[in-house]
Amino acid sequence: MNKEFIQNIKKVEYLKKNGKSVFGIFGDPVSHSLSPLMHNNSFSIKKITAEYLPFYVKKAEVKEAMRIALDTGIDGLNITIPHKSSVIPLLDEIHPAAKKIGAVNTIVFREGKSKGFNTDVDGFILPIKQYIELIKYEDVTVFGGGGSARAVLFAMLQNFSFPKINLLTRNEKKGNKLLDEAEYWKKHGTILEWCDFSNSIQAAEYIWESRLLINCTPIGMTGNNAEFPFSLARFFRPGQVAYDLIYTPLETSFLRESEKRGGQTISGLEMLIQQGAKAFRIWTGKTMPVKEIRSILKEKLLPQNKR
Ligand code: NAP
Repeated sequence: MNKEFIQNIKKVEYLKKNGKSVFGIFGDPVSHSLSPLMHNNSFSIKKITAEYLPFYVKKAEVKEAMRIALDTGIDGLNITIPHKSSVIPLLDEIHPAAKKIGAVNTIVFREGKSKGFNTDVDGFILPIKQYIELIKYEDVTVFGGGGSARAVLFAMLQNFSFPKINLLTRNEKKGNKLLDEAEYWKKHGTILEWCDFSNSIQAAEYIWESRLLINCTPIGMTGNNAEFPFSLARFFRPGQVAYDLIYTPLETSFLRESEKRGGQTISGLEMLIQQGAKAFRIWTGKTMPVKEIRSILKEKLLPQNKR
C-alpha cells in the first residue's frame, strides 16, 4: 500500500481507540474531493463523534485497501474514480440499483460485513423534482455516455416517464451499448435514441424538442480547456432546464449558454450535496444539514468559479 494510505490508517486506529466513528473516501485522485469538508462539517453540526478522511488508493491497491478498511473498523466509505465498479466483487452485499448500474459509491460496514449502495441516483434525481411538473411530458437530451451518464439514465428511466431521451456521444459504439443496456432499466415506454455529438444538424432538432438538457461530459470543468460547443448551445431555448453535473466551476459555459437563452439551471453542486446527504443518512440514520453544507461548499468553490 502507498505511504499516504498507511499514514491515514494509523489515524483511523487512533480515532477508533478513542471511541470515534470513522468514514472516508477511496479514490485516485482524491485530494481535491469536497466530501471530507461536507461530512466533517455535517458531523460537527449534528454533534456526531465521527471523522471523515480521504484515502489515496491506486487501482491495483483497492482489494487490499478494502481488507484493511474492514480490519481497522472503518464504519463507512465513499468510493470514487476509478474504483466504483472494481469494488463490487469485494462486497458481501449490493443494493439492487447499484448492482444494475454496475457502480457503487457508498459502502457501510456492519458486524464485519460490507454493503454497497449507489447514492448518485437519488443525488441526481432530487434537484430535478422541483421542475418535474414543467418538464415531464417533454423530451430529454443527455450529453456524454460515461459513468455519470449511466447513473443519470438509470435514475431517469426508473423514476420518470419522459416520452424520449436522446443520448449524444462522440463514440457511436459506446453510446449504443449504453442504450442497449438502458432498455432493461425502463419502467415506462420512454424511447431511447442515440445521436453523434458532432452531428449538429440532428442534435439541433433533439435539443430544440427537449425541455431538460443534462451535461454528463467534463467539457467546461476546471482544468478542461474547452467551452461547451456553440454549434450545440445555439439551439438552447427559453423554458428549458439545463443541468450540468460539473461543480467546478459552479457556473459552467453549458449553464451560462442556457441562462443567456432564458433557461433555468441546476449546478452539479446540488447532485454532489444530495448524494452525500443520502450516504450520510445510510451511515448515521440522520439528515445532513443541507442548507449549511451548501453555503460552506459554495464559499469554498466561489473563488474557483473562474477557470
Ligand atoms: P466519464 O466516465 O469519463 O465520462 C465522460 C463522458 O464525456 C464520456 O462519454 C466521454 O466520451 C465524454 N466526453 C469527454 N470529452 C468530450 C468531448 N470533448 N466531446 C464529447 N464528449 C466528451 O466521466 P463521468 O464520471 O461520467 O463524469 C462526467 C462529469 O460529471 C465530470 O465532470 C464529473 O466531475 C461530473 N460528475 C459530477 C457528479 C456530481 O456529484 N455532481 C457526479 C459524477 C460526475 P468518451 O467515452 O468518448 O471518452
